[in-house]
Parts: sequence; C-alpha cells; structure tokens
Amino acid sequence: MDHSGQSVLFEAIEKRRDDLVALTQDLIRIPTLNPPGEAYLEACEYLDRRLKPLGFETQLIRGFGTPGDSEKYPRWNIIARRDGAHPGQCVHFNSHIDVVEVGHGWTTDPFGGEVKDGKIYGRGSCDMKGGLAASIIAAEAFIEVHPDYAGAIEISGTADEETGGYGGVAYLAEQGYFTPERVQHVIIPEPLNKDRVCLGHRGVWWAEIETRGHIAHGSMPFLGDCAVRHMGAVLSEMEQSLFPALAQKHTAMPVVPEGARQSTMNINSFHGGMAEPEEGFTGFPAAVVPDSARMVIDRRYLIEESADEVKGEIVELLERVKSQRENFSYELKELWQVSPTMTDHDAPVVTSVARAVQTVFGRAPDYVVSPGTYDQKHIDRIGRMHNCIAYGPGILDLAHQPDEYVGIDDMVDSAKVMALALTELLTAS
Ligand SMILES: [Zn+2]
Repeated sequence: MDHSGQSVLFEAIEKRRDDLVALTQDLIRIPTLNPPGEAYLEACEYLDRRLKPLGFETQLIRGFGTPGDSEKYPRWNIIARRDGAHPGQCVHFNSHIDVVEVGHGWTTDPFGGEVKDGKIYGRGSCDMKGGLAASIIAAEAFIEVHPDYAGAIEISGTADEETGGYGGVAYLAEQGYFTPERVQHVIIPEPLNKDRVCLGHRGVWWAEIETRGHIAHGSMPFLGDCAVRHMGAVLSEMEQSLFPALAQKHTAMPVVPEGARQSTMNINSFHGGMAEPEEGFTGFPAAVVPDSARMVIDRRYLIEESADEVKGEIVELLERVKSQRENFSYELKELWQVSPTMTDHDAPVVTSVARAVQTVFGRAPDYVVSPGTYDQKHIDRIGRMHNCIAYGPGILDLAHQPDEYVGIDDMVDSAKVMALALTELLTAS
C-alpha cells in the first residue's frame, strides 16, 4: 500500500481513539468471571449490538454440555462475520471474553474501567478485552477505508479460555468454525506486547501419581506401610535425577520468559494421609499410617519432545524407585495433554503481521512462544488450521495481576498493525 493509503488508515484509527477507550471500558464493566463463567451472554449480546450495525452477521452459540455449562452458567460465544465485495480469504480475530478471579491488592475498582495516565484499569483489561477492542476498531477502520475488500473478516468472543477453552474455541472448532476451508488466517489478540508475534506455545502433560501403603495404628508403624514415605522416595528421585535432566533440555522455540526455554515441571499438589480437617474443627488427628499419597505434576514440554517421551520419563523414574524399594507400588493416571505448537515463520499470517509491525514501529517484530497454552491449541488440533498466531496489545506479565491495565497508545498502535495486516490479506493492492 502506498503512503497516502496508509495514513488514511492510521487517521481512521486515531479518530476512533475515544471510541476504543469507551469500548474497552464497557467490556471491562461486564464481569465475565471464570470460574464460574458469569455474564457470558451479556458480553456476547453487547458485541452483537456493536457489530451488527457494521454489517456483520452474528451467531450466538452456546457450548451445550461442555465443562461448567449449566442453566445458571451457560457457555455463550459469539462469531461475527462480514463478507467483502469479492470472494477471497477469511481473517479471523479470536478473543476470549472470560477473565480470572479478582484476587487481592487492587487499588482501583476491578470492574470500573478507570482511565489514569493513559491506561485503562480493570480485570481483563490486558488479558484480553483491550485486544478484543483493538481488533474491533481495526476492522471498523479497515472497512471504512477499504469498503470493497475481498474475502471476509470474522471476530469472535469466546468462553472459558482461562479454564481450558472447552466451552469456547474447542467447542466451536468441533462444530467446524475453524477449518482451513472456512478460515484462512487467525489472529488471537492475547497480550503478548504490541511489537511481538507469538507463534505458539509449549506442550502440557498433567498426571497424578499415587503411591500405596497399608493402614495401621500410628504407634506401631512397622505393622503398616507408609504411603507418604514411598512418595518421599519418588520426590527424592525427582530432585536427584529428573529436575537436573529437565534443566538440560533446551529448545529452539523462542519461549519467553527465557527461563521457560527448557523443559519444566511443577509439583501442583501433594496429598497424603488423613484429609485436612474442616475449618473450625478443634479435635486431634487420629493415629494412623497413611495408606495412600497422591501427587499431581504439571510438566511443560518442548516441540523437540513427544508426549510419549515425557510420559516414559516418569514411568522409568517410578520403575527405578520400585526396583530399589521394598513394597513400592504406584499408579500413574494421565489427566491432561496438549501438544506443543509453533506456526512457521513464513506462514502468511506471520509475514503479514510482521510487515505491519515493521511499518508501524520501524523495526521487525520479536518472534516469541508462550510458556503456557492458549486457545491456539484447539484451532491447531481440532480445527487443523495452522496459520494462526497471537498478536495483541498489553504486557503479558500484568495478566491475572492486581491493578491490571492496558495502555491506550499500545491499543491504538496494535489496532494499526491489525488494520495493516487486514489490508495486506484482503485487498489486492
Ligand atoms: Zn488470555
């Protein structure tokens, strides 16, 4: 596009600055807390009212029967589509509408959308209502400047990303909304910083390990077999062999922060023996030898590893403990697995957004990979759509924090990037 075309597009965004702020504030003021999944319908209806007058055809789709879906907390989603004047490709902006719990430490109203020093505060401002608002403004400005564009623009607001995305993008992908036949480019405006292109994420493997023992009177532990001591042996083996080995496994994926550029594992929980007494219970514990101990592990893995290798490593460790320890028995239960994904650097959505970043900021973007997963996993695996990235305003570290905010200038800049990318993908010149 020539320079004058560009400046017309940028002006169309600049003149919407106040509207962008108001739109973000409105979205923050709809408290879409998840769990449990509050006010999804309200958020979808708000987006419906916003997008319909712009010529978008909208569909409100409930993820019936998905985890958490109920009459009280229905999992509503919206997909809005606007076809251009000619056939062409479809660019889809996908934003999750849910936000995580508020937590402590706020100095502003988490659902107030207060503006201070060029920032909009509130739960979900950064993750990711600011990104959603920026994509809407980008689409509006683009449509105004290029009313005769080819192809289609889609904007979706989806449920439950913060709890796995099963009532949101996974459900929609299963219904066929993210197939390569229907959608050719996907941009997820998660808060990855306005000058970075996020290509994908590491993999996840969650499992529960249980060690078994025999219950007995605590005064005669030799008559029983303590499951917690068996689990202690597992933990010790992890400290001695597994954690050092994971630290040696580095990846070519450009994961940020850099500490996540290797395999990692978190021990998510550890339970053994009697259940914790209820709050307010004043009695003593009974003297028993624990017959069961459980540990949940959260292993994040690399594109260079496979899920089988990751599982095999744990099985091998448990077998090693078994060979060294009398009466050791265990059970391993897999809880959740997500494959790592990374879109190619030369995929069309990557190169278009990269060129737009270069134009707006005068330098090439940084390419990054997220340490944790987001909805790209469902678009990639269920939708089989691999031309997908995360790109949006906001500082990743602020997500889920108290006094979360999004910078107004950052939203305006990233809206320019999104509108330029639309221009490249949906207009001939
Ligand atoms: Zn998010």
